[in-house]
Amino acid sequence: MAKIQMKNKIAELDGDEMTRVLWQVIKDELLTPYVDLQTEYYDLGLKNRDDSDDKITYEAAAAIKRLGVGVKCATITSNAARVKEYNLKQLTPSPNGIIRAELDGTVFRTPIFVKNVQGTVSCWKKPIILGRHAYGDVYKNCEIKTPCAGKAELVFTGEDGTEIRKTIMDMKGPGIIQGIHNLDKSIESFARCCFTYALDQKVSVWFGAKDTISKTYDGDFKAIFQNVFDTEFKDSFEKAGIEYFYTLIDDCVARIMKHEGGIMWACKNYDGDVMSDMVASACGSLAMMTSVLVSPDGKFEYEASHGTVQKHYYRYQKGEKTSTNPVALIFAWTGALAKRGELDGTPELVDFAKRLEKATLDTIEAGIMTGDIARIASPAAKKVLNSWDFIAAIKERL
Ligand code: NAP
Ligand code: MG
Repeated sequence: MAKIQMKNKIAELDGDEMTRVLWQVIKDELLTPYVDLQTEYYDLGLKNRDDSDDKITYEAAAAIKRLGVGVKCATITSNAARVKEYNLKQLTPSPNGIIRAELDGTVFRTPIFVKNVQGTVSCWKKPIILGRHAYGDVYKNCEIKTPCAGKAELVFTGEDGTEIRKTIMDMKGPGIIQGIHNLDKSIESFARCCFTYALDQKVSVWFGAKDTISKTYDGDFKAIFQNVFDTEFKDSFEKAGIEYFYTLIDDCVARIMKHEGGIMWACKNYDGDVMSDMVASACGSLAMMTSVLVSPDGKFEYEASHGTVQKHYYRYQKGEKTSTNPVALIFAWTGALAKRGELDGTPELVDFAKRLEKATLDTIEAGIMTGDIARIASPAAKKVLNSWDFIAAIKERL
C-alpha cells in the first residue's frame, strides 16, 4: 500500500525504561510501515531532561501548544534513588507536572474495554472518562496541630489592605486546623477543559460537589461550572445531543454505581484522586487505561496512564522478553493520529487509527494477550505472549 500522508506534525515526546523500548517497537512495526509519520521529536528521557535542565520539557510543551497535538511516552519522575542510578545533576520536577502547568490543562483517564475482561462493576458497559482538577484544595493546604485550647481564625488580607476575619472554632482543647484555597481562574480553566473534551468525545458531563454543606467553597465551584457552561458551551452541547448535569457528590457516586457509563465525570482534586483509582481498579488493568491532557483552548496530549514499568525494564536488560502490555501506548498513538487527521481533514489517517485500535482489541478478544490481562481474562487466554510477539499478532490482524 502507499503510505498514508500527514499534513501536519505531531509533537512526539519520548520517555524512559520499558515504555521507551516499546515505543520504538510500536513505531517500527505498527506505524511507519503504513503512515509517513511526521513528528517533531523531543527526547524526554531522564538523562536528557537533566542535561538540558528541563529545557527540553518546556520546548516539548511549546511544541504541543504550537502543533495542537502531542503524544507522550511514560517518563521517570526523579527521586533520590534515580539521581544515583542515572548520575543526575539535580532532582528535576515531574515532566507531566511541567507540561500540565504550561498547557493549563486537565488530565482525563479512560479505561479501554475488551469483552473478555469483565470489570467488577457489571453495569458499566461503556467507559467512564474521569477528569481531575489538579490544582489546590487539600493538595496545597496549610495545617496546624494546635497544642491547647484557643481560638482558630481564618484571616484574609487583601492587596488593598482589606481584611476579612472569621472564627473557625473556639477550641476547647488541643486539636488540628487546616486552611485550603482555590482560584476562580483555575476552576474556570478546569470547567473549560472538561466541556471541551466532552464535546470532542460526545459525552455528557457530570460534576458533583458538596455545596449544601460548603456553601461558599463548593458553591463557587458549582457556580463557575454553570457560568462557563451557560456562556460558552450550552449551544454546542445541545447540537451534539449531550448535557451538563450537576448533582451533590454523594448522589453522583450513587448514580454512577448504577449507570451504564459513557459519560465524563468531572471531579474536584481529592474526589478525582480517590475515584480515579477506584474506576481504574474496577476496570481491570492499569495497562488498559489511556490518559489525555486537554488544555482549555483545545490542545491535546495523549499518553498511557501507567509509568515506565521499571521492574520489567530491569528484567529486559538482563535479556528477558517481558510480557509488558503495549495497549495503552498504542492507544496514545492512535489518539494522537486520529486527532491530527480530524484537525487536518485527512480521514484516511483517522481511519488508520481506528483500524489499529480495532486490530488491537480484536487480537485480545481472540484470546491472544499479554500476561497482565491473561491473569484476569474470562474465558481464559489462548496464547500469552511477550510484548514483541503480541505486537506482531496485532500487525498480522491489521
Ligand atoms: P508503573 O510503571 O505504572 O508500574 C507498576 C506496576 O504495574 C508494574 O510493575 C507492573 O506490575 C504493572 N504495570 C504497569 N504498566 C504495565 C504494563 N504496560 N504492562 C504490564 N504491567 C504493567 O509504576 P512504577 O513502576 O511505580 O513507576 C515506574 C516509573 O514510572 C517511576 O519512575 C515513575 O516516576 C514513573 N511514572 C510515570 C508516569 C508517566 O509518565 N505518566 C506515571 C506513573 C509513574 P508487575 O510488576 O506486577 O507486572
Ligand atoms: Mg489516587
